[in-house]
Amino acid sequence: MTVVPLYEDNKHIFSMIPGIKDKYGRTFRTLRVSLLNHCNLGCVYCVAGDDTQIAPVHAALSVPDLLTIIERLHGQLGLTTIRLTGGEPLLYKGLVELIAGIRSIGIQDIKLTTNGFLLERLAAPMKAAGMDSINVSLDAVDEEVFFRMSRRRGPDRIIRGIDTAREAGLEVKINTVVMRGLNDSEILPLLDLAFSRNLRIRYLEVMAMGHLFETAGKYLFSQKDILSVIAGHYHFTPLGRKGSATANYWQTENGHVFGIIANESEPFCRDCDRLRLDSEGNIYGCLSSNHPIPLGKEETGREWHTKLQEALAQKQALRFTGSELSMLHIGG
Ligand code: SAM
Repeated sequence: MTVVPLYEDNKHIFSMIPGIKDKYGRTFRTLRVSLLNHCNLGCVYCVAGDDTQIAPVHAALSVPDLLTIIERLHGQLGLTTIRLTGGEPLLYKGLVELIAGIRSIGIQDIKLTTNGFLLERLAAPMKAAGMDSINVSLDAVDEEVFFRMSRRRGPDRIIRGIDTAREAGLEVKINTVVMRGLNDSEILPLLDLAFSRNLRIRYLEVMAMGHLFETAGKYLFSQKDILSVIAGHYHFTPLGRKGSATANYWQTENGHVFGIIANESEPFCRDCDRLRLDSEGNIYGCLSSNHPIPLGKEETGREWHTKLQEALAQKQALRFTGSELSMLHIGG
């Protein structure tokens, strides 16, 4: 697909204006795009009560609108990576067309975060369109614990989706949010599932977002807690964290690798390079911010530049401070 640059007139402005960098040397290289703020699961850390938003699915931004924004941001920032997320990105109707369009813009590294429910159908077309790697969220293999976490049935369906994605040639990682008293019993079963398939699993500390803004602490199962559960069964050594990445990694004696995204106990804001675009065309420089910055179609390159600097100023110096917006809204 050919993307028509609607903002040709702004290109000379981009080359005249100074770079976007803050006092820590941080800039934006990774763009996380929330395709829609609906999901077909109702995970307890994301969705309050029984407020699940299954249908109807309405995406605020069309494929051409999204490609225009992404191309323009790429022109201004030199993006290296795009991660498509949501809501549930596999519910977005033009997903495959969008992936091909991002490829044609020249962004090589295209990733996606999904709950995996629709993977069996979409894995091969996504790979053919230019997708490289996906993160699949899976918080339990036990049916009852899975239901407690997601308010839906069917972890087996997600596991089948993971296998289909790997057969299609996608790199797959598993993401598990660990919540004290809810699914901490699943740390080892999920580790065994990942190791048996030679997959990387990353455990996430729960974050104070959305309806958990004030109460996340009581569910926190920290990096230290997770390591001590795994240490009861495996010997491992630390591999550390790569610059601007989210996860710390460890390797077991058998060569298996697992990670922990320790938002709370070992924050990684210092070298964060992520910019977020929500499904309505607003940008955010940080998950902690609940202040959306709208990007106007008709605005000049200089105006977008000012807004990107505003977004960069939203980044926290040291740590995530929580937000009343849920990831369903801002994009995970
Ligand atoms: N629907 C897709 C999925 O389930 O992966 C993509 C969106 S989901 C919001 C993206 C990621 O955000 C998931 O890995 C989810 O586990 C994580 N997430 C959402 N709310 C969270 C919270 N309060 N704390 C930690 N992780 C959270």
